[in-house]
Amino acid sequence: MTLSSLRQQLLAGQTTPAAILSGLAGAIAARDGRTGAYLSHDLESAMAEAAQADLSLPLGGIPIAIKDNINVLGQPCTCGSRFLAENYRSPYDATVIRKLRAAGAIPFGRMNLDEFAMGSSTENSALQTTRNPHDFERIPGGSSGGSAAAVADFTAIAALGSDTGGSIRQPASHCGVVGLKPSYGRVSRYGLVAFASSLDQIGPLTRSVEDAARLLQVMAGPDPLDSTSLEAAVPDYLSGLNDGVKGLRLGLPKEYFGEGIAPGVRRQVEAAVQALAAQGAEVVDISLPHTQYAVATYYVIAPAEASSNLSRFDGVRYGHRAANPTDIPDLYQRSREEGFGPEVKRRILLGTYVLSSGYYDAYYSRAQKVRSLIRRDFETAFTHVDAILSPVTPSPARKLGGSAIDPLEEYLSDIFTLAPNLAGICAISVPCGLTAFDGAAALPVGLQILGPHLGEALLLRIARATEVQG
Ligand code: GLN
Repeated sequence: MTLSSLRQQLLAGQTTPAAILSGLAGAIAARDGRTGAYLSHDLESAMAEAAQADLSLPLGGIPIAIKDNINVLGQPCTCGSRFLAENYRSPYDATVIRKLRAAGAIPFGRMNLDEFAMGSSTENSALQTTRNPHDFERIPGGSSGGSAAAVADFTAIAALGSDTGGSIRQPASHCGVVGLKPSYGRVSRYGLVAFASSLDQIGPLTRSVEDAARLLQVMAGPDPLDSTSLEAAVPDYLSGLNDGVKGLRLGLPKEYFGEGIAPGVRRQVEAAVQALAAQGAEVVDISLPHTQYAVATYYVIAPAEASSNLSRFDGVRYGHRAANPTDIPDLYQRSREEGFGPEVKRRILLGTYVLSSGYYDAYYSRAQKVRSLIRRDFETAFTHVDAILSPVTPSPARKLGGSAIDPLEEYLSDIFTLAPNLAGICAISVPCGLTAFDGAAALPVGLQILGPHLGEALLLRIARATEVQG
């Protein structure tokens, strides 16, 4: 069931928050052993909250699953890392959690992710494997793979994820659910464990566009605890949801429809574009000329910021601490050596390198300049189109591959999702059908819709139109 339909049932007295939680706990017990989306869940404390739930609130009594890099008071927040898995408990609620609670929601469940959200498969989790509910031999995508898999597997009603370069949209696409990355500054990041601070945003993963709108409505807005959150007023995301796409100009960037896209992905995305045109949208060809530099730019900037953010994990204040250190450098080195997994170490090494004296100008400052060009591409495009359409990923979910996967190939598969984060604009992934791929009969394909900065209302309206096309 969607969040919206459950809410109606709650209001009509046909179910209760406790019954919903018991249902989820049963579904988790029955299916999550196979899917592996949940790292942990605390039914007892959720039940205590359910007993107090105020159903008159916008999300009254609705459980929401939380990616395990968002702090919820008293709960674990492992970030999929050994570093935090042993003994860390969150000492406070993230602002999004505080807002969800104020709207009556119940945070329930801690969802698996790539370690510190670094990855596109959830295979970089140091803690467990998450499988795609559409095909258990395949990845759910990542890094919010647990959030997406649970929503697709009906073990969660809706979930929060975080998106630095695609981590909400790509797993949503691979699992056949809706995933929204809000514009930079739209949602407070206070209490999200930082990966790359100029790119990170928290957003919803849901079974319908309306559900995404309901969650964004609650999560969005300024926060004095996050200086990057914007003062801009939050519009009503629900009122115009069904206004349709008639008269809207939608751009197809030629750089997003080139070679290397699986035929089934191209077919389904083109069919979704046709369906929007049939509803009265005007589809026009556009160009985002600096697209080819997005992967290189992102994989300089994101690791640079990560190397700085992760320096706080030193074995002193929280998390893993190496046994019997001989001195302070030994404590730092061994705590980090033992606590971090291989992808995190790779990012820290890359980031430290591109920031180091002598290489800073050659890599980091140049990446910042190219980032401005990528942002300008979108600004120019949005002077003549209302929104942009593309695939989310070049291919559907690949098979689980573990350490046999080449990191560079993995980075390249982020080609369509990175630029929106570099530009700070909003983006959504909506399911647009299934395709046969690589021996699998039917895997989900996602359509990506990109909107201008703070254009979430329009983005959601277009996304909603893709649901009614059938
Ligand atoms: N796949 C990208 C990366 O590995 C994006 C991850 C994310 O959005 N958190 O960095």
